[in-house]
Amino acid sequence: MLSSIPEVSSVAWSSMITGQNPGAHGVFGFMDLHPDSYKMKFPNFSDLKAPPFWDLWHGKSVIINVPSTYPVHEMNGVLISGFVSIDFEKSIHPKSLIAPLKDMDYRLDVDSQKAHSDMDAFLKDLDASLEARIEAYRYLWETQDWQTFMLVFTATDRLMHFLWDAYEDKNHKYHSLFLEHFRKIDQAVGEIDSRLNDDDLLIMHSDHGFERLDKDIYISYLLAEQGFLQFKQDQDIALNNICYGTKAFALDPARIYLNLKGKYPCGSVDVAEAEDILRQLENLFQSLEVDGRKVIRDVYRKEQIYSGPYLENAPDLILVGADGFNLKASVKADKLADKAIFTGKHTQDTAFFIAKGLRDENIIPDPLTVSDIKQIIEKARS
Ligand SMILES: [Zn+2]
Repeated sequence: MLSSIPEVSSVAWSSMITGQNPGAHGVFGFMDLHPDSYKMKFPNFSDLKAPPFWDLWHGKSVIINVPSTYPVHEMNGVLISGFVSIDFEKSIHPKSLIAPLKDMDYRLDVDSQKAHSDMDAFLKDLDASLEARIEAYRYLWETQDWQTFMLVFTATDRLMHFLWDAYEDKNHKYHSLFLEHFRKIDQAVGEIDSRLNDDDLLIMHSDHGFERLDKDIYISYLLAEQGFLQFKQDQDIALNNICYGTKAFALDPARIYLNLKGKYPCGSVDVAEAEDILRQLENLFQSLEVDGRKVIRDVYRKEQIYSGPYLENAPDLILVGADGFNLKASVKADKLADKAIFTGKHTQDTAFFIAKGLRDENIIPDPLTVSDIKQIIEKARS
């Protein structure tokens, strides 16, 4: 299965639960800009512009740990939001479940900060959060009268970012712990499967794939080096301090925005020159090489991959990295290519989709993307 573009969880899950592309659901990345400014904001569930499937489908739903569903809203069933969830009470619907979940030591997310200082403590936390998540699913499976049940495991993502090297290297200190975490999830999946009736539909899927991270590539560094991005003198290097003369800037992971006149406070690009600048940028990205390898797999214009009423909020260009290259927008970077703590990175084209109980496989489109899942389930049910 293909992930969303970009292949980040907020975009992929928003696409999955609405069955729409970012141009229709309005979530283009983890961060976005306040209108008419370079100030960042954090889009949350209230910014999602299309309804999630549980507001449309008949019957009760139990939804556990889907990213970007915070703060929870009134709905028919149970919603426990996934990362980024800040306040426990605003993460649980209905409120009557707050106490039983606290009793289970339910955690909204693992503490990834721990991985930077104490990997053993991080892995312990990872395990405890998985145990509690499984306990919560069992409790809700048995106590709720539901039609749709959705459970997301997110600690696998953290594990693969920090310890992909441990997965690849059998002699790595954490190799067996890495595999053990996945075995526990396999067991939970097996347990869920054993609870199903003959006419139930079971779907397992990821929001993106994973692979080894060779290099982090700082797109904003490239834009600054090539003169497209400029900052006010004597001020912090920050998106907020972009100066007039900037032609383009980037938001994570690799969303490129033209600094258009009239749209941004220091906008300097006329609509008439936009096409020319887009072409220059496309050439720059398509020809970019590091260690003799092509860095960017694809450069998309927004109209190529998005459609819908929120298209104008979309970045003008969206880049997908080639194998091993992790694209980042951070303006603070002092070099183009670097290697930080992460050893694993997302992939756009190796997400997975497995279905059991689907009577007609022809309802699976080819190619299959994460935004198709909702419709597959709807077709299977009709
Ligand atoms: Zn991730």
